[in-house]
Amino acid sequence: MIQENSRLLGLLSEEQKADLISLEKQFAHHLEYTIGKNKYTVKNEDIYKALGHTVRDFLIDRLNLTDERYRKTNPKKVYYFSLEFLMGKTLSNALINLGLYDIVSEMIKGFGLELAEVLEFEMDAGLGNGGLGRLAACFLDSMATLNVPGFGYGIRYDYGIFNQIIANGQQVEMPDHWDADGVPYEVIRADITYSIGFYGYTETKISGRGRTEHDWIPAETVLAAAHDCPIPGFNTSTVNYLRLWTAKSSEEFNLDYFNHGDYMRAVQDKSISENISKVLYPNDTTEQGKELRLKQQYFMVAASLQDILLRHKQAEGTYKNLAEKVAIQLNDTHPSIGIAELMRVLVDQENWSWEDAWDLTTKIFAYTNHTVLPEALETWKVSLFERLLPRHLEIIYEINFRFLEWAKAKNVLSPDEISEVSVIQEGAEKRIRMANLAVIGSHQVNGVAALHSELITTTIFKSFYKLFPEKFNNKTNGITPRRWLIQSNPSLSYLIQKKLGPKFATNLSELKNLEAFVKDKEFKADWIKVKKTNKDRLAKLIKSETGISIDPNSLIDTQIKRFHEYKRQLLNVLRVIAVYRRIKENPNITVTPRTVIFGGKAAPGYYMAKLIIKLINNVAQVVNHDPDVADRLKLVFLPNYRVSLAESIIPGSNLSEQISTAGTEASGTSNMKFMLNGALTVGTLDGANVEMLEEVGEENIYIFGLKTPEVFALKEKGYRPQDYLEANSELKRVLLMIRENFFSPSEHGIFNPIYDSLVYQDSYLLLADFAAYDSIQDRIASDFLNEDSWTEKSILNVARVGKFSSDRTIREYAEQIWKVPLLEAPSPKTKYGFPLVQS
Ligand SMILES: *Cc1c(COP(=O)(O)O)cnc(C)c1O
Repeated sequence: MIQENSRLLGLLSEEQKADLISLEKQFAHHLEYTIGKNKYTVKNEDIYKALGHTVRDFLIDRLNLTDERYRKTNPKKVYYFSLEFLMGKTLSNALINLGLYDIVSEMIKGFGLELAEVLEFEMDAGLGNGGLGRLAACFLDSMATLNVPGFGYGIRYDYGIFNQIIANGQQVEMPDHWDADGVPYEVIRADITYSIGFYGYTETKISGRGRTEHDWIPAETVLAAAHDCPIPGFNTSTVNYLRLWTAKSSEEFNLDYFNHGDYMRAVQDKSISENISKVLYPNDTTEQGKELRLKQQYFMVAASLQDILLRHKQAEGTYKNLAEKVAIQLNDTHPSIGIAELMRVLVDQENWSWEDAWDLTTKIFAYTNHTVLPEALETWKVSLFERLLPRHLEIIYEINFRFLEWAKAKNVLSPDEISEVSVIQEGAEKRIRMANLAVIGSHQVNGVAALHSELITTTIFKSFYKLFPEKFNNKTNGITPRRWLIQSNPSLSYLIQKKLGPKFATNLSELKNLEAFVKDKEFKADWIKVKKTNKDRLAKLIKSETGISIDPNSLIDTQIKRFHEYKRQLLNVLRVIAVYRRIKENPNITVTPRTVIFGGKAAPGYYMAKLIIKLINNVAQVVNHDPDVADRLKLVFLPNYRVSLAESIIPGSNLSEQISTAGTEASGTSNMKFMLNGALTVGTLDGANVEMLEEVGEENIYIFGLKTPEVFALKEKGYRPQDYLEANSELKRVLLMIRENFFSPSEHGIFNPIYDSLVYQDSYLLLADFAAYDSIQDRIASDFLNEDSWTEKSILNVARVGKFSSDRTIREYAEQIWKVPLLEAPSPKTKYGFPLVQS
């Protein structure tokens, strides 16, 4: 390490040395004056905080320069509306993108510390559930890197996704007070607040000009206050921002009570209105229709639109050209109430005609769909809307009425199809279908992988597709290579950089040049060494987090993602049980040593997902303590899966499990992260796996199982899980072990619901795919023993991952949907590239 460092110091130019000195000054200033410490009282955590403030200064400099540039050139801007941003840690990423990593790591060494240790003090910003929120975070990184004038809008939840602990094998949720010690990099915009109305009633009157005018008189108002997270691009001077809103009670609301002398009531109500931004809803893919959740959605959207409109009016003096200057992307339907809100502002407040307002609104919004599971499509009771947002309900009815008249006149839909495209779902309790509102109010609707985008036009949005096929398009997801390679896997990125130079960091397709080295002995040896380093590190992490010792030379086989039945973690653990049985039946059997890792959270109210977590932990107890197994099989559940944990697990994995029932996973993005880090994939033809196969070639990926049309056909003809049990005696015995409490000797019957759901329903066709999964896993186990050919496949996976950079995705959105420019930005002052030192 020391040698590496002195080598680096020798590399610093005079200018860099000067930067190092001024950085140290700034840092010392923050340590003393911002944090308030001296040499007697300073703790390692203070070093982290002072570093955070030092980096913040750099970010603010560039944020201001970027702002000035946008003011002068006045480009069209894009606003990414999302109720979730799963940012993870910010500082390490900022250091890399700003090009400061190396000199800051030198500076920290001056305190006798490693930078990595210091960065550990930062809490993950877990303001999202999973893939959808992480996508938003990757998109922000790519927009800044490509110099797209693009900004995120969301909510600054006091509590992010819950912390998961495992007690007696079960998930227990703990509050995630992520900002308890302050967030050093954020910029509080005390002067930017908007007031947001709720409840109340509407009034209609005829104006002097004979126009019917509508007014909404809210009964409650809450203030939205802005907090900005600077988003630095990589190797560019552009710094955009993510603006997050917190709820503050509005003074006019409280004064009412103060005036009546009810001080306690006023203070209580203050905290009630501040509840809006208290906590992220921990549901992945299924919605639960709670009032506070709808309040969060409207709060976020109304504040963001006011902010955008005010800025535009100040610059342009009119909304007439709004669509030439503003594009808004809706990340799922969660912010789709924005469509009705913009109509309300234009029609009720700006007195526009309905037709002009609608024309403008639909030019501004575009909608990204994230699921084809019908139970996950968001709907709200009309009665709730009527109470909370009475004027928006009227507007939605008007939008729907005009749309249905237009649709009927087109004469391409049957009466049943007309009721299918209606925003209103009829029935005992009328509901509003947010997806229908989003489709009708947007000029473009996209899915997130080729298969998914195709599926939405043949299933959930089939009738809409008949009405306006040109609205539908695909934007295959991507991930940012800055976080998911350079930051998470410095050893691999260093090796690649030695061969190819640094261009892959912003043009991931450059990695294709690695193919030239696929037969190069020395390169392969280096590749193996890097993977081994990462596996050793992962083994240490597993030991410290769970107490389990694993063999770092074993096949490290990983499934990390939210727990959901469609993702089929249960299929994976069924096979683990089958392998365990084989070893027990035949203790001398040779099997490739394997470590099966799981990580992921279940929604707190998702009974079956939590039971599957419990099953994995119970099976692990048995398998890991059985001397007959003798280290040939280990099962690990790593608690509290989150972005920073993903960054540690993925580089150390050999095999990536992407085994959802074909046709259920919209895209997946962890599949891409593993590919980028040289893991091979075992997967179904689902989501972006389909495109990964196209890119990497069938010899370099393990595809198994039913394909989407086969899944549909099987369900159509009537799926009978018992047929598959009768045909597979081993599978039958595996299920009986679960049923007969082999893994629950002191908890009889707890896993019966799992057994019953598989045998009598099996909605996600685990039993139908089991044999194919089992046999491909056997092939993988034997292929892994051939280290040379496994390594070649690993190199080819990385060489052919280029398509899955979120830079490619953002280019497509910018060109095809947003019509915003990729600007030229001045080169950054600090330009030292990414970490040279292997940390
Ligand atoms: C990438 C990521 C996800 C998405 O994983 P999928 O396997 O694509 O569902 C979820 N959570 C975290 C923390 C991630 O980093």
